[in-house]
Formats: sequence, structure tokens, C-alpha cells
Amino acid sequence: MSDLRKPSELAVRYDAVQKRIAAAAQRSGRDPESIHLVAVTKYASLAQVRELLELGHMDFGESRMQHMLQISAQVQEYLDRRRELGHVDGMADRVRWHFIGHLQRNKVRRIQALCRLVHSVDSLRLAEEIQSSAKEDQPPVEVLVQVNMLGDKDKHGVAPAAVSHLIDQMSTMPDLRVRGLMCMGPQSEDPQLLRPVFERAYELFDEVAKESTAERFDVLSMGMTQDFEVAIECGANVVRVGSAIFGTADPDKVEAEAAGAS
Ligand SMILES: *Cc1c(COP(=O)(O)O)cnc(C)c1O
Repeated sequence: MSDLRKPSELAVRYDAVQKRIAAAAQRSGRDPESIHLVAVTKYASLAQVRELLELGHMDFGESRMQHMLQISAQVQEYLDRRRELGHVDGMADRVRWHFIGHLQRNKVRRIQALCRLVHSVDSLRLAEEIQSSAKEDQPPVEVLVQVNMLGDKDKHGVAPAAVSHLIDQMSTMPDLRVRGLMCMGPQSEDPQLLRPVFERAYELFDEVAKESTAERFDVLSMGMTQDFEVAIECGANVVRVGSAIFGTADPDKVEAEAAGAS
């Protein structure tokens, strides 16, 4: 059906991101299959999310709870309709939502049913809140601890020195599974600034993984549009990419660029 059509802009960008991920993995001597891409929907339309699903992409991330509730419900509706039309590829069971933003404690109630992985646990109180709102008859909530590598006051996250203690405390919570760490690089495209931060994050991840009693501590989520290649080279196995896949935030600008290009 689609062979007469040019691949869409989204398909081209998605393909380019996947190729860059694979190349960065190979440069660091790793299997490209071991790197997982979370497509961040912050700037995406529902049509774009649907298109990415049709391309076979199943992992989506969102940083605002309200938007995640909205777009995941719309996606669910779309998948239900698709199933009614006779598609039996099980897509509805495979789509996974990742929460990657700052989580307010009064919003944790929906997390367990909705999210495959919460990337952004940044305090004991938040962990306790997730634990106390979790239902025993559902699978435990899988989470990452967000680390603030540079002690940046404008950013969320736990100080590197406090990570290990927090994880010890969290490992006593029966409905929580700590799967790894998440961090954000400094606001810079300069690899000279980024690389040492990501390298230290990897060292911390490696240390905690060795000493931790957690069953599976194997996720290091770092790298976004500006820096995912450096992050992979430093050891990330999950990257969270939004604008490189979905384009820029401003729809007017996107339209103006499209008009200019034609
Ligand atoms: C928005 C966001 C991303 C993706 O950002 P891009 O620069 O658009 O790739 C990744 N991680 C977090 C925590 C975000 O808030």
C-alpha cells in the first residue's frame, strides 16, 4: 500500500534516529539491540504517535501526568478501534508508557496501572507515596532513581552520594522495583562538557549495580535529542528522544519550514 508513497517526514526522522543509535552503539562496542529508544511525546500530535505505532514503535515517554493520561487514553481508543477492525497483532498489549517528568506526590495513584517504568523517582517521600498507593494484586511499580549529577539547583534528582542509601531504603518496599538510574546532561551540545558527566553517571550506575541487592538493576536512562549519542557511548541503554523524532514544538514554525522547503 505504502510502496508508491514517499516515506513521511516522521518515518525519515525516526529512521535517522535509529541509525544514529546503532552507530553510537557500535562505536562503543555494543549491540545496537541492547539500546532502547523511548519516544518522548511532549511535542507530538496524536497522529504522529499513531504513525510511530504503525511503524512498530511501542515505547513512549511523557513528562507531564495530565498529558500522559490524555494521550495514552486516546492511543488506547485508537488501538481498541483497530482491534475491532480485525487487527490481531496484539499491539494494544505491547505499547508501553514511561513517565519521565517530575512526579507530584498527589499524582502517583494512576502510575501503577499506566506506566511500564517511572524514570524520575527523586526522593524517599515520593518512593513511599508510590509504595503506599500501589495495589498488591498488580505487578510492582518499576522505577529508576533520578540523579542530579552536577547538583544543579534548577534540576530535580538525588545527589550522587545519596543514591545508594535511597536505593537501600527503596528495596524494602514490596511493591516497588528499582531497575536503575536516570540522569540528564547539562544544557550543552559540547561533548567536552557532556562526556565527563555521563561517564560519572555510568560509574555510579556500575557501582550501585555491583553492591545492590536488587534482583535486576540494569537500566541506565540518559540521553535526549541533543546528546543521546554521547550518552550511548558512555554506557546508556535507554535514551529518551523527543524533538529529533517528532520535530519542533511550534506547529506554526513547522508549517513555515515545510512551505519554505517546497
Ligand atoms: C522532554 C524530555 C526529553 C526529550 O527531549 P528532546 O530534547 O525533545 O529529545 C527527555 N527527557 C526528559 C526528562 C524530558 O523532559
